[in-house]
Amino acid sequence: MSRLVMKFGGTSVADIDRIRNVALHVKREVDAGHEIAVVVSAMSGATDQLVRWCEQSLKRRHLFDAREYDAVVASGEQVTAGLLAIALQDLDVNARSWQGWQLPIETSGAHGSARILDVDGESLVRRFKERGEVAVIAGFQGLNPETGRITTLGRGGSDTSAVAIAAAICADRCDIYTDVDGVYTTDPRVVPRAKRLERIAFEEMLELASLGAKVMQVRSVELGMVHNVRIFVRSSFDPPDKIDPHGNPPGTLICDEGEIMEQQTVTGIAFSRDEAQISVRQVLDKPGVAAALFGPLAEANINVDMIVQNVSSDGKTTDITFTVPAADYQRALDVIANAKREIGYARLDGATDVAKISVIGIGMRSHAGVAAQAFKALAERSINIRAITTSEIKFSLLIDAAFTELAVRTLHSLYGLDKAA
Ligand code: ASP
Ligand code: MG
Repeated sequence: MSRLVMKFGGTSVADIDRIRNVALHVKREVDAGHEIAVVVSAMSGATDQLVRWCEQSLKRRHLFDAREYDAVVASGEQVTAGLLAIALQDLDVNARSWQGWQLPIETSGAHGSARILDVDGESLVRRFKERGEVAVIAGFQGLNPETGRITTLGRGGSDTSAVAIAAAICADRCDIYTDVDGVYTTDPRVVPRAKRLERIAFEEMLELASLGAKVMQVRSVELGMVHNVRIFVRSSFDPPDKIDPHGNPPGTLICDEGEIMEQQTVTGIAFSRDEAQISVRQVLDKPGVAAALFGPLAEANINVDMIVQNVSSDGKTTDITFTVPAADYQRALDVIANAKREIGYARLDGATDVAKISVIGIGMRSHAGVAAQAFKALAERSINIRAITTSEIKFSLLIDAAFTELAVRTLHSLYGLDKAA
């Protein structure tokens, strides 16, 4: 017997038919003898609608009250938890729904982006034993014990609820049921030959997730890494009755790197076209200039990503290049222009038609020359590299957006990630 968390995202519970389909997935695992906690998202689109209603209700935006926002947006998950419990009972599965405040899932008081502090796993485990009962838990929400108010965890937060609950009940695995059947080496819409990964290490998944492979909320992967919760990404659209609960269903296991036998050098390639490049020309090469530049950007809440600065050749001036989200490009230029006196520079250049390609793999830690191969392959296709950054398990290249697909495909083949035809 195993203890499992089964999490279902918005598209998996989008309507009543799909909720009944989810109930069949749950019943299969219950019949196989497992102890089950289910975590559900709101029906797809429901949270967006609730957010819009909050916005429409308030004309004077400075009066925004995040406690009431949470009271409203948390309701989407309340509905699905109750509906799934009903659908399970209809299949003669003993089930009970739980809201975050009932369990409770205790969080910080940061409404709209609260952090989970504690989950009472013991009472769930007791009910598994005493009643053989499936717990159906509303994701995304919790309770701030200091104020007694409902909180939410930020968009996509049900993933984080699921992993936190899995840690609290010492689950053998946290299954994330979604609309894709796993994590791929890159976006299959761009590279049809992208392969589903059997396994990926937490650290690699963190890089992929934060680079926009929208499979899971980044924080849920962080939490999984800290508590070593094995996370299995799989599809809820595989027919529930065709799956062997003791078999090896298709999906991707996110796990500790020690569980991965054959480590590839490169595991995946992520890319983002939502980047803009800013180059600040001829800043003085002296202490305090970077602080004068990046301080105001941070204050304006602009997320700076790649930063490249050259060593000055004349000892006097140098250039600093960095990237920001394309949506913040104009605002970033304005912030810098306003701080021109403090920073001191000759000219501001920028481009929005750029893309960032990132190559990720734990194997890079022990292999030299991985990036050099990429430079050569891109050069052979006349793709110019504007900027490069590296870390232990990743390197990122900034290129012209027009070459995104060619570059991703080239690197995907180069590192042997194409699936056999
Ligand atoms: N329903 C919430 C959202 O749409 C949380 C989640 O689905 O994970 O962001
Ligand atoms: Mg999601």
